[in-house]
Amino acid sequence: MLGVMGKNERDRTSRRMCAGCGSRTERHELVRLVIGPSAPFVAVDLGRRLGGRGVSVHPRRACIRAALLRGALARALRGVAQVEPESIEQMIIGQLTQRARGLLSSALRVRSIAVGTDAVRAALVANQGDLLVVAEDARGRAQEITKMAIAIGCATATWGTKASLGEVFLRQELGVFLVTDRGIASAILECLAQIEALSEDE
Ligand SMILES: [Zn+2]
Repeated sequence: MLGVMGKNERDRTSRRMCAGCGSRTERHELVRLVIGPSAPFVAVDLGRRLGGRGVSVHPRRACIRAALLRGALARALRGVAQVEPESIEQMIIGQLTQRARGLLSSALRVRSIAVGTDAVRAALVANQGDLLVVAEDARGRAQEITKMAIAIGCATATWGTKASLGEVFLRQELGVFLVTDRGIASAILECLAQIEALSEDE
């Protein structure tokens, strides 16, 4: 059971090397890419649950591209498959989006979220709020609410559209919501920062 021991051993150390840029980084800042067991393919293992051989990379375009050119990932794929960096980026963005949505469900369960302009406003007036999320196409009072959030030291981010945020909360449209749990807020913020880094034009 050498493989299992090896896995546990690796899990005890929290720092890993990025297969792209080669720097050692906290494990949670890296994304695990798994090289498929049978067919040579690459899967994104955000939750680190998949077995098999994997490498860790920063969720950044440059690191993903570099990892596909050299190192274990490149060696495993050489001559058998061509994996486009864009497809890996899209897979990571998809999983980060799923994770962020899961975190929102957690926030809903523990009632640490205010949804919609009026509820968000009321929470901010009461000095509550760790993360304000505004849809890219939100208009009207979104600007005023953002100012209120900044004034009480609440983090702010833009994410998706009114339609896509609405989907998460089973509404037709949603322009703003506010997370009032610090831990969940910072986890969501990390997801959104990584999505943004991967979505940026070069
Ligand atoms: Zn890197």
